[in-house]
Formats: sequence, structure tokens, C-alpha cells
Amino acid sequence: MERLQISEDEDLRMFRRTVAQFVEKELVPHQARWRAQHGPELEAWRKAGSAGLLLVDVPEEYGGGGGSFAHEAVVLDELARNGVYFGTQVHTTVAHYILALASDEQKHRWLPPMARGELLGAIAMTEPHAGSDLQAIKTSARREGDHYVINGSKTFITNGAHAGLVVVAAKTNAKVIGMRGISLIALETAGLPGYRAGRPLEKLGMQGQSTVEMFFDEVRVPAANLLGGVEGRGFAQMMEQLPYERLQIAVGALAVAEQAVALTTQYVKERHAFGKPLFDLQNTRFKLAECKTAAQVGRVFLDDCIERFVAGRLDEPSIAMAKYWLTETQCRIVDECLQLHGGYGYMTEYPIARMWADSRVQRIYAGSNEIMKELIAWSL
Ligand SMILES: Cc1cc2nc3c(=O)[nH]c(=O)nc-3n(C[C@H](O)[C@H](O)[C@H](O)COP(=O)(O)OP(=O)(O)OC[C@H]3O[C@@H](n4cnc5c(N)ncnc54)[C@H](O)[C@@H]3O)c2cc1C
Repeated sequence: MERLQISEDEDLRMFRRTVAQFVEKELVPHQARWRAQHGPELEAWRKAGSAGLLLVDVPEEYGGGGGSFAHEAVVLDELARNGVYFGTQVHTTVAHYILALASDEQKHRWLPPMARGELLGAIAMTEPHAGSDLQAIKTSARREGDHYVINGSKTFITNGAHAGLVVVAAKTNAKVIGMRGISLIALETAGLPGYRAGRPLEKLGMQGQSTVEMFFDEVRVPAANLLGGVEGRGFAQMMEQLPYERLQIAVGALAVAEQAVALTTQYVKERHAFGKPLFDLQNTRFKLAECKTAAQVGRVFLDDCIERFVAGRLDEPSIAMAKYWLTETQCRIVDECLQLHGGYGYMTEYPIARMWADSRVQRIYAGSNEIMKELIAWSL
């Protein structure tokens, strides 16, 4: 199976080899344990940091790898291909909020430990009654002197269990209805009174990363932690940063789709029914031909998106298309491939079963695919 083709110069190829070796040797062997305990040991984050897998597209002056989104795509691709999910994607997303919106002192304080895997990032937007409709959030941040005092709760927060830095979306002005009253505030959670992360929620897939509720009870945060320095910009800031996360998701989606086709092709050539390999049945070959075609079409589109994103030329509707179409394609391909595995495809010891469970959420988070279609339609 071919990997990323765009601008895979020698630098990117070498980087991919390093990442692939690290993932295979240091991460893959621990997946069953991580899934059982809803996340890796913190030591794994440090190892990933030392190996240069975290914040690869953050400038070196802040401890990052100094690469581009093409480097980030290599990391996402190798992790997803191997079914390794432990929250690094959200961690990087948070780093990009900090990079875009924090002061230089804050960037120097937070980004280097994030790159080393010592400080984990989370982004807390969703609330029990406000997911797609982010304007309806109720978590409040009232100004008191040099502090904000935060009250409320969040849900479905990836990395929440161990996050040391949480970017929280809160209403700084309750009188303003809708998006203009929302701000983003960075919380340093270590020993922070009134802050509490709940137990990992039981999920259908993506078991290796923690997803939790968060509670804020009169949590005091320095006013300087208001990201961007101006109240009421939070909704716009999220809209500016979400495309990055959506493209990350699209990269992982296609990696899984390609991997599903590869391992299913191998499976049906080995498995026999009615005295011959499953691959000799026309239905099997046709299904795989359809899947392979969809994956290849997706590859051309995604590589073009990455190339344009790196060049700063990728428009938002195209990112919404990539997130929507590639995650739908991922789910369709993985489902067809699971079917070709028969009953074994339903057994979680088989990678295709875990892929199926892990894939489903891709159509829901970071803006559901219905919201992606709205974004695309607005551009028409
Ligand atoms: C595993 C996991 C990890 C997550 N990680 C995070 C995280 O780290 N941080 C965070 O803040 N959030 C996170 N989320 C939350 C996620 O972003 C939301 O679940 C998602 O935005 C959808 O919101 P909701 O669940 O409230 O669904 P709802 O908004 O209630 O939507 C329900 C259904 O209605 C549809 N719908 C809603 N509005 C429209 C519309 N205008 N037009 C058409 N259809 C619509 C949706 O597409 C969906 O199908 C995570 C969720 C999961 C499951």
C-alpha cells in the first residue's frame, strides 16, 4: 500500500521511517493494556516526546519539531494505520491554539513541556447541553480583579484525565447572547482548587485515550490566561482553529481506510471457503475493488489538501469536505472489510473489529459531518 505521496522528499521519508519504527516498537505492543486502562502510562507521553513525535509542526524555538503539517500528517498516518490512539492529535491541536493565541511568555512556558510530553493538553468546548451548538454553552467566567472565576461543566473531553493545560470555552459576558459572549481561557490544572476531571467515560471505541467530564466550581484563573487578550473572541478563535483539527482527522481517516483494504486483501487470500480462497469469489474481489478505488480517490484529494494547507492555500469548505467525505469513506470501507472477515471481523482480537469501533466517532467529533455539510453549503 502506498503511503503519502505529496512532497515526500527525503526529509519526510526519513521522518516517516523514524516514526514508523517508534510506533511499532514502543507503542503497538502496549495497545491492549492501554485500551483496558483507558490510556497509556504518562511515561509513554514522555517517550513520544523524546522521540520527537509531539508538536512536530510547532517552531523549534518553542520546543517543537519545526516541521510543517506534512510532518504532522506523517505522525497521524502512522498512528492511525496501527490503531494507536492516545490523545496526541488533540494535544497537538491544543498546542496550535496556544501558538496562535497565547503571549510569547505563555508559549515559552507551555509549549516546550508539551513537546516533551510532560504537560498534556485538552480542549474543553462541549457541554452536556451544547455540542454542535457551541453558542449555547453555559460555563461562565466572571472577572474579579486580576482573575476569572470559572463555573460550569464540560463533557466528552479527550485527554481530560491527565491534562495539565486545558483550553476552556466559557461565557465571559452572560448578557450577550450567542457567540460574542464566549472567550477561551487556559487553565493550568495542577493543584487548581475547584477543578475536577471525572472518571473515563465508557466508549464504543478509541479506548486507548481518556474521554471525561470536567467540573469547575469557583475555579480562579489569572486574567492573563484569557487567550488572545480580548474577551468575546472565543467563538471566532474556535472557528479559526477547528479546520486544523478537521484536517488531522481526515488524515487519520484515510490511513485507516487504506490499512483496512491492505489487511483485508491479505485475509481473503488466506481464508478458504468452498475449497478456494475468499479472494476467488467475485463478490470479494468487487468489494475490495470498490474500496481500493474509494481509498485511491481519497488519497489524491487528501494529498492535494495537505499540499495546499502547507502552502497556506486551503480554503475552509475544502477542509470540511475532507473531514466529511474521508471519514464517511473510512467508515464505509472498514464496514465492507469487516464483512469480508465474517465472524472473525466481529472479534475484537482482529484489528478490523477495532478499526470499525474506532472509526465511528470520526463522523461525530470536531464538528459532526452534518455541520461539515452546512459549512460546505454556506460556500455555495
Ligand atoms: C470520543 C469523543 C471525543 C470528544 N472529544 C472532545 C474534546 O476533546 N473536546 C470537546 O470539546 N468535545 C469533544 N467531543 C465532543 C464532540 O465534538 C461532540 O460530541 C460533537 O460536536 C457533537 O455534539 P453533541 O454530541 O452534543 O451532539 P448534538 O449537537 O446534540 O448533535 C446530535 C445530532 O444532531 C446533528 N445536528 C446538530 N446540529 C445540526 C445542524 N445544525 N444541522 C444538521 N444536523 C445537526 C448532529 O450532526 C448529530 O447527528 C468528543 C466527543 C466524542 C464522542
